[in-house]
Amino acid sequence: MTKGTLFTVCAPSGAGKTSLVNALVASLDNLTVSVSHTTRQPRPGEKNGVNYHFVTEDDFIHMLTCNLFLEHAQVYDHYYGTSQRWLLEHLHTGTDVILEIDWQGAQQVRRLKPDTVTIFILPPSREVLERRLRSRGKDSEAVIAQRLQAAVDDISHYVEFDYLVVNDDFSQAVKDLQAIVHSQRLTQLAHAPKLEKLLTDLLS
Ligand code: GDP
Ligand code: ADP
Ligand code: 5GP
Repeated sequence: MTKGTLFTVCAPSGAGKTSLVNALVASLDNLTVSVSHTTRQPRPGEKNGVNYHFVTEDDFIHMLTCNLFLEHAQVYDHYYGTSQRWLLEHLHTGTDVILEIDWQGAQQVRRLKPDTVTIFILPPSREVLERRLRSRGKDSEAVIAQRLQAAVDDISHYVEFDYLVVNDDFSQAVKDLQAIVHSQRLTQLAHAPKLEKLLTDLLS
């Protein structure tokens, strides 16, 4: 049976990963993004079950003790985690899934699913990163300062990733992500099960 590919996408906050991943998912079939659980407060406009499953710290810890997360991490004073069951169900039905998670989570995913394809998104400069965090207009000054301070440490993990995408021109960055997904779909492991009839005919 065809199994979906797991893509893991990381970036410092404000680099544009949510916008890019949304554009990527809208542009390709059979690709979906995992909705994480988080204990942080929703930003203006964020919807429960769409951007995140927003849960209390007690609920999160309960889910953790029930082993419901494939990976989890504490990022900027909040807990974030990926639901194991949802993810496995989608991969088993052949859907490709994107995880938009931090580098600590990516390390756990790599250990548990070594065939995950990992992508790190870089901003074109520090100044642009800061401008984007501010222009998003949804975080307080203190939260922006905390995220900018963490950015250097986040970015230092780029060496752990298979692909690097610079999000300068948005549409070029979406094209780069499409190319990564497309080339992954052409690998023998992913493609041969879909070419079963052709291969059988050619080899008979
Ligand atoms: P953003 O990076 O500005 O979009 O801010 P968010 O508050 O949406 O995400 C905060 C951090 O948590 C980012 O580094 C995310 O990649 C990370 N994150 C989100 N969901 C998950 C998750 O399910 N697991 C882990 N480990 N990290 C997550
Ligand atoms: P992240 O999920 O990495 O924190 P977002 O997707 O929320 O980042 O993007 C942060 C801000 O930068 C948003 O306001 C978004 O519209 C903007 N943005 C993202 N990519 C670009 C780009 N290539 N050029 C200009 N602005 C961008
Ligand atoms: P934000 O609070 O701005 O939405 O996200 C902050 C950071 O948390 C981002 O780097 C985001 O990728 C990360 N994050 C979001 N969901 C998860 C998750 O499920 N697991 C992990 N490890 N990190 C996550």
